This record gives sequence, C-alpha cells and structure tokens, in this order.
Amino acid sequence: MIIVNTDKEKYFYDIHSLVKSFYPEEDVLVFVKGSREIPEDSDVILTIDLLLKWDEGHIDAEFIKESGEKESLSMNCIKESEADSADMTDSPKNVLKRLLYQMLNKETGKDLPWGTLTGIRPVKIAMHRLLLGDDDEAIRDYMKKTYICSDEKTDLSIEIAHRENRLLEGTTDGNGYSLYVNIPFCPTRCAYCSFMSSPIGLWKGQVDRYLDCVKKEIDETAPLFKDKRLDSVYIGGGTPTTLEPYQLEKLIGWIKGAYDISKVREFTIESGRPDSITMDKLLTMKKGGVTRISVNPQTMRDKTLELIGRHHSVKQTIDAFYMAREAGFEHINMDIILGLPGEELEDVQYTMDEIGKLKPDELTVHSLAIKRASRLYDYVADHGLAGMDTTSSMMKVAEEGARNMGLSPYYLYRQKNISGNYENTGYGLGDKMCLYNIITMEETQSILALGSGSVSKRIFEGHRIERKGNPKDVKLYMENMEAGPSPMKEFFS
Ligand code: SF4
Repeated sequence: MIIVNTDKEKYFYDIHSLVKSFYPEEDVLVFVKGSREIPEDSDVILTIDLLLKWDEGHIDAEFIKESGEKESLSMNCIKESEADSADMTDSPKNVLKRLLYQMLNKETGKDLPWGTLTGIRPVKIAMHRLLLGDDDEAIRDYMKKTYICSDEKTDLSIEIAHRENRLLEGTTDGNGYSLYVNIPFCPTRCAYCSFMSSPIGLWKGQVDRYLDCVKKEIDETAPLFKDKRLDSVYIGGGTPTTLEPYQLEKLIGWIKGAYDISKVREFTIESGRPDSITMDKLLTMKKGGVTRISVNPQTMRDKTLELIGRHHSVKQTIDAFYMAREAGFEHINMDIILGLPGEELEDVQYTMDEIGKLKPDELTVHSLAIKRASRLYDYVADHGLAGMDTTSSMMKVAEEGARNMGLSPYYLYRQKNISGNYENTGYGLGDKMCLYNIITMEETQSILALGSGSVSKRIFEGHRIERKGNPKDVKLYMENMEAGPSPMKEFFS
C-alpha cells in the first residue's frame, strides 16, 4: 500500500492516478489534511507527504520508505494566483505532477511512456497546441518539458493531431452533430467484458419493445436538430448485429426518416462478434446506406478465443470478413486486444500476420483493461497462465504490423486499469478512418446518444460540455421511456 498525505484537496485525483501508474498492483490511499483511516494490517511500502505551498510559489514533498529512510524534494511553481491556466508548464498542477514523477521514477526505476499525463485524451494536448499555431518543434518541446512525455509518444500525438485536424475539417463550425444509438445485446457475454451488455437470448420477445423505445427517442429528438447538420451516425453496443435483418431495417429506416441524413459522411454499425454476422444482415445494412462496419477478431488464436469466452472461431472471423467484402463493404474495421491471457509476443505477431492477409481498412489495437476482481483474472491466476500484461514489444509489433498494412494512426485514447499503462490506438488506410471516433475523442461537436446506457454530450459556446445519460439497466430504460419523454428531449431543448 502507498499512502499520500496532502494538505489540499485540489488535484487529489491527479495525485492518485499518477502514483497508481507507478504502482498498478498496490492500493493507493490519498489523505487530505490528515484524514487518515489506514486499514489494519496494511503493508505500507511508501508514504508521501506533500506540502502544496503554491500560494508561495513552491511545492515540497517528503518520501518515507518502508525502511524509514527519508528523502525530500522541493520545486518552484508559478503562484496559483498568477497562473492563467493549468496547462502552463510551471503551473502548480504540472509542477506537482513532475515532482511526484521525478521521485517515483527514482524510487521505482520506471519510465512512464506518457510521463505525467494520466488523462484519457493525451492527443487533445497536441491538438490544442496545433490550433494555437505551434509548429511541431514547439509542441514537442512543450510536451516534453511540461509532461515528461517520451519522444515516441510525443511524436505519435503530433502525428495523430495533424491527421485528426484534417479529418475534422468541415465538422467544427458549431452547426454539426453526431448520432449514437446503443444496442445493449450480444450473442453471449465475453469473459473480459466491461460494457453494459447482456446475451440477447435473455431478452426474447423484448428486443422489439426496446427498439420501440429507441424510436420514441428518435421521434422526440429529431425536431430539435432540424436546423443542424448530421455528420456521422454510429450504432454501437453491445453487438448491433444481434438484431434480426427486419429489426436492423426498421431501425435504419426510422433514423433516415426522422433526421436529415443528406450530409452524413459516415454511417457505422458495429458488427463486432463474427458469430452475429449473416449475409442477410450485411445486405440489409448495405442497402440502408451503412458505410462502415467492424468485424472484430480480438485475436487469431482459437485457444485464446475459447479462454476469453468469445464463442466463435478464427474461421468465423475470416468468413465474416470476406462475406462483408462480398456484400460490398469497402470500409471494414477490425479490433484486436493485446495482453490477452496466455498470449505472448509471438501470438501477437501471429495475429498481426493473419490479419494482414485480410487487408482490413482499419485496425483498432486495444490493451486489455481488466479489473483484478474479475472472473477472467481469477481464471488466469488459478491456471498459472502467462499474459494479462501488454508489453512495449507487443505494442511495437502491433504498430509495425498496422503500418506494414499501409495503415496510419488516427486516434488514440487511454482508459483506467489498462494493461501496462498503454493506450488504445486506431489505424486507418488513406481517409478510411472513423470520424465518429475522432469527434468523441476531441469533443468537437454535440453527440445525441439514444438507447440504454448511452450518454449524450452537449457542447456549448466557449466549449463548455454537459453530459446526460440514459439508465444502464435495459428494463428500467424501457419502463422510463414508456412512462414519459426521453431525457434527451429536455437536455437538447
Ligand atoms: S462482444 Fe463486446 S460488448 Fe459484447 S460481450 Fe463481448 S466484449 Fe462485451
């Protein structure tokens, strides 16, 4: 266990996240102003005392190791009253994080690829500097000085920021929006799943009722957007292709009938699980104007698929991919996961080689994000399997594999509990990149999100952002929707 004592509440979460990045396996407790309640029998390996004297222009820290040995460090910062923004290199927040980083780096010997950055959208920083007019050299200098970001991640952020900037052209005038519809059903539940999704078999006879609720939301919200430009539509989940062809057809029809889709640049339906894909469904989607789909292998090793409860084979992935090509889809994404249980570097290389043969238009590389208390984690521990940790070599193999397929990185995000403290990266071929993904990452326009568990985002002038979610529980969502108006109606009014 690591204990941090601090005298101010501000940046509590930043402190916690950064310490946790150095010690992912340890519990980290942050106490403000001595509010200590250390659990009995705790094995405290490090105590950090922070004195945040930013009113006086400095921050002091003392590290007390398990052995009792102490070490102190003090750094100067801009006085809080004089710091215009937290983004300034020597703002109290950035100096605090650099001070912690320096001491923890010395203590553990670890270099974090993203330096002091702990947020989920690191590319936003490079993008912001780009929009301020900085050239690449200035951005590089800023990211290294301010966040101790590695050369590799700094360059990756800048490369992606340029690409995102180009792809977002024409969508950032304040008049555009995107539409998301959540389908919370899957063929079965994968062992590592962290989404609100349940096996469709449990909802027999209820799926049309669910879709009727989504239709109600569509009808209630469409008039609010009649003067806006719809740029992208994304039907996700879950696995939307668990819907029957007639259900897909009516959902697409409702969307096209209610919103003006004449300017839509991209219409995605996630078809993630290959065992949910049929030619009938593909042709229905193609006929309905869907332009982009996903066929997600996760790995090309059958033994791993079995272990993670995917209930489909590699052959089904390959068949589904070729079926989608035959149906006329020219923009197909494939998702893979690094750090899967039992997988080592050669398995990742094998997966990349096999996917390379299919020539997808997009590849999204995820690092496994899994809770220690999960079913899968226990299984792996009980069976003494390797894996569950993404290594930098795996990331390298995936990146090289993607680039060898002619794909370039275009979006990136990090998430909590991510294996090895790495990130998820989307790669695309030419302009075949997902606009909706970039919009969600860069938060450049409002997103109207419908269906259970979906979260709408409204962007106001001055880039103030508000969010509104629907209930995650499908039953509660349907009951609410049948009893009254969609909360999105009021949210966007
Ligand atoms: S396909 Fe995705 S959403 Fe569905 S159960 Fe598996 S991980 Fe969860």
